[in-house]
This record gives sequence, C-alpha cells and structure tokens, in this order.
Amino acid sequence: MRHRLVEEAAKLIASSSYVVVFTGAGISTESGIPDFRGPSGLWKRIDPAKFSIEYFYEDPDEVWKLFIQFFENYRRARPNPAHYAIAELERIGVVKSVITQNVDGLHQAAGSRRVIELHGSLRYAVCINCGYKVSLEEAIEEARRAARAPRCPRCGMPLKPGVVFFGEALPRKALEEAFEEAGRADLVLVVGSSLTVYPAAYIPQYAKERGAKLLIINMTPTASDYIADLVIRGKAGEVLPAITREVKKLKGIEGDIVRQGC
Ligand code: NAD
Repeated sequence: MRHRLVEEAAKLIASSSYVVVFTGAGISTESGIPDFRGPSGLWKRIDPAKFSIEYFYEDPDEVWKLFIQFFENYRRARPNPAHYAIAELERIGVVKSVITQNVDGLHQAAGSRRVIELHGSLRYAVCINCGYKVSLEEAIEEARRAARAPRCPRCGMPLKPGVVFFGEALPRKALEEAFEEAGRADLVLVVGSSLTVYPAAYIPQYAKERGAKLLIINMTPTASDYIADLVIRGKAGEVLPAITREVKKLKGIEGDIVRQGC
C-alpha cells in the first residue's frame, strides 16, 4: 500500500516542472525538535500565550528565561533524512524552493539553497525599538549573564528572539516571495504541517486555486487534506527519502541521496 503511494507521489513530482516544498514543524521532529500540535507537541507542556508579542512586552525577562530552555533543543538538532531528501530534489533541479514555517535552519544545514523563512529565524535577535540585529548566541549569552532580557547595544531597549511571535506580522518580503513561488508552482509538496497556522497555511491553498497539484505528507490529518491530490500518512524521514529515490529512478539519475550542506 505504502509503496504504491510512494510511486504515485514520485510520478506526480517527476512529471512537474516547478515543484515548491512547504514545510512545518513536523519535518523536524525526527531531529529532536518537538512540534506544537502533534501527538507529543510543545503546547502540551508550555502555554502558547507566553509566546505572544503582548506577553513579551509585558514580561520580556520571563519570555527570555523560557526561550533559553526551549532553545537547547534547537542548538543540538541536526538535519534528518527528510531534510536531505528535499535538498537532493533541489540539487537535481526538481524542487525550485522551500517555503518553511520553521525557524530551526535545518533545511539550509542539509544543503537546501532557496529557503523562504516565513516565521523568522533563530540566527539573530532583534531590537523591539530600532530593529538592530545581533546574533542570537550573543543575545543568549547576555540573557544568561544578566538573568534578564538582553539589551540592544544601540538604543538599550530589550531584544527579542528573531522568530515571529503570536500576534506579530510575518516578514513582508518572505511572505511576498512565498506567494510568488506558490503562484509559479505546478506542484506543492507539503511536509509536516497541520496547515492550521494562518496566513502561512493559505499558501498551499493559493497554489491549488491557481491550478497546482497538492501532495501532503503528514503523520496526522491536516486541514487541507480534502483539497489534496494525494495524501500520504507517515513519517517524513521515511517517506521522503523513498520518494526521492523513486524520482531519481524515474529521471534516470544514478546514485543515492547526497548528504551535502554543513
Ligand atoms: P504543527 O505543530 O501545527 O503541526 C505539525 C504536524 O506535523 C502535525 O500535524 C504532526 O502530526 C506532524 N508530524 C509530526 N512529526 C512528523 C513526522 N515525523 N513526519 C510527518 N509529520 C509529522 O506545526 P506547523 O504546521 O509547522 O505550525 C506550527 C508553528 O510552529 C509554525 O508556525 C512554526 O513556525 C512553529 N514551530 C517551528 C518549529 C521548528 O522550527 N522546528 C518547531 C515547533 C514549532
């Protein structure tokens, strides 16, 4: 049953000319980073309201304290076979870009080159007043030392981790690029997203409305399964390498998945 679905997915991908991948937290759970809403999701342990921008303005010191614990999972994480399989599909010219809701940088670490980050990144912290950026590692060091929110070296106001908090707008340039890519795609491959966080979740729907095919790989049902051309329920780290190998076979490309990147 699974093999038939893998073959079907590979055929869809190999016969498309502009494949765009859309990923969520589920692609990184096999790298040891918990998702939010999956079976062992983070929201079962942490109150999501603490990662809202309103709460950050109220108590930045408390948010940094929580954030530092939370960040440890990310620091240790390495790409898993799903990230490498996607990077390989880009390397062989099939995938044109990756739109991700993730902030973990694992697509880039696996070798994906064109990555659009919708929810910011863990590479930096940003001043809530003047927008000045410093590396997140530096900000964390200061937060630990001072046991409070780190301060902007330029204006002295609190720095905020470079990720989009609940209640904040998404970075405009990334959002625009993502919609452009979705408009160009003839196939969108969704991996590891519940497709419930808006406006990001609208991107695959937008592509579908413009005639793209929609292929969803997720462990549990998603909010857009009903419009998908094909849904595979399974672990991204198992299903994606199998699909990528099959695509390479269909295209007559020899060799196994290359683990490029850093
Ligand atoms: P989500 O938590 O709403 O959904 C994740 C989905 O992935 C779930 O439906 C779950 O069943 C599925 N899943 C879990 N493990 C899987 C696996 N191994 N293979 C296939 N599917 C798997 O995540 P979302 O849709 O990305 O939205 C949540 C928000 O959380 C996003 O805005 C994102 O920015 C943020 N987030 C990011 C990270 C990260 O950077 N790694 C981690 C947690 C949350």
